[in-house]
Amino acid sequence: MAIKNAYLQSVFDGLKARNPNEPEFLQAVEEVLETLTPVIEARPEIQNAGIIERIVEPERTIMFRVSWVDDNGKVQVNRGYRVQFNSAIGPYKGGIRLHPSVNLSILKFLGFEQIFKNSLTTLPIGGGKGGSDFDPKGKSDNEIMRFCQSFMTELTKHVGPDTDVPAGDIGTGAREIGFMFGQYKRLRNEFTGVLTGKAIPAGGSLARTEATGFGLCYYTKEMLEHDGKSFQGKRVVISGSGNVAIYACQKATEFGAKVIAMSDSNGYIVDENGIDYKTIQVIKEQKRDRIKTYLNYVKDAKYYEDKNGSKGIWTVPCDIALPCATQNEINEESANALLKNGCIAVAEGANMPSTPEAIAVYQKNGILYGPAKAANAGGVATSALEMCQNSMRYSWSFEEVDEKLHNIMIAIYNNSVDAANRYNLKTPAGKIDLMAGANIAGFEKVANAMLWQGVAY
Ligand code: NDP
Repeated sequence: MAIKNAYLQSVFDGLKARNPNEPEFLQAVEEVLETLTPVIEARPEIQNAGIIERIVEPERTIMFRVSWVDDNGKVQVNRGYRVQFNSAIGPYKGGIRLHPSVNLSILKFLGFEQIFKNSLTTLPIGGGKGGSDFDPKGKSDNEIMRFCQSFMTELTKHVGPDTDVPAGDIGTGAREIGFMFGQYKRLRNEFTGVLTGKAIPAGGSLARTEATGFGLCYYTKEMLEHDGKSFQGKRVVISGSGNVAIYACQKATEFGAKVIAMSDSNGYIVDENGIDYKTIQVIKEQKRDRIKTYLNYVKDAKYYEDKNGSKGIWTVPCDIALPCATQNEINEESANALLKNGCIAVAEGANMPSTPEAIAVYQKNGILYGPAKAANAGGVATSALEMCQNSMRYSWSFEEVDEKLHNIMIAIYNNSVDAANRYNLKTPAGKIDLMAGANIAGFEKVANAMLWQGVAY
């Protein structure tokens, strides 16, 4: 695909000139702008109000030093970030990523995508993202606590339950959120819903842990059924073995599929009898161990070392692929391997896991494609439900939250289909273009709110 509208292309050219060292951010923006041509042509007021120029620039970017003391008494320094991208429809909302690869380009790509994803959830949340190049792997609990306290000491100045509500992401789970929440409370002397993904006794929502993985499967189920297909009896490959992957494995199995392969950044396992998500939970959530130790529990399973960007897993024959590890993990070659092996659907649990070339392979060849913004929005949607419960000082049961999540994922799917149909957008293979539909449905709500508010930001 290419940007077909001159105005959109000129905004993108300006963005490229201003941010030459931000490839992930430019990739995410280009992907959205490529799909907005029909909206820009139908609605000149968007161009007149400079909505595109404004929406690609974060409202605020905060970068700060995070100093902390390791277990040997040595001072360590990391870089912390918060990108507050767009608050047109609600307080900034988006996770905190702790991973050595974190840089401004990656956080801007994630924050930009978050605007549209959050809009799609139907709930009132703006877009943001944050993180640090701190690597929690191999650190003691005390080191993690000292880092999180130092990180939150600065972040406290910029977040709040009506301003910006961060959550977890890669490397930030319940433990890290707990340390950050404790520090915020200590500094502000307030018990508020400033973070989501909290532990249940401290204001967390039931079903938040499961939400992204479950939501991914609810969305995928809609997409499959709309095309006369289902999860029943299908072979599923899931990359990653973290929060999203584990609960995608559980729900796909409950829907009658068999999850054949999962991975971590060292390699992947194949279990032809179907991977038991509870074993992965023990390995990853309790022991914090490597996925190859699955072989200690299931003797017939196989393990393949795969350190080069975890591409090997996509050569395992499957009907449905659920990438749930990281960005750009499926390139053109991997997409062609999926196609050759008869894959019928790819739905994204991770953010931007498919390169543009991979997406072109899906769309040209009739592979159903559920884009991340829509397919993995269940996590942030349930975070917004956590915010609701915190504001009400009340909590819903697991079943109540799960039912709301399920309905939200159905609404996201239907709204994406409606937007694609309104502008008559189909993939080259004649399927409904769910990527364009999701981008447009997410964009129009935010653009309308920005138009209504005048030139505020
Ligand atoms: P976790 O940290 O819980 O798990 C990430 C998994 O992906 C781990 O198995 C990790 O392996 C693997 N992984 C990470 N980086 C790489 C890499 N460069 N190459 C290969 N494997 C890698 O994160 P989450 O499950 O929370 O997040 C996964 C993805 O889903 C991310 O893209 C995130 O932004 C997205 N997402 C998460 C949401 C959530 O609610 N948690 C919501 C929406 C999107 P290892 O342990 O070896 O590093």
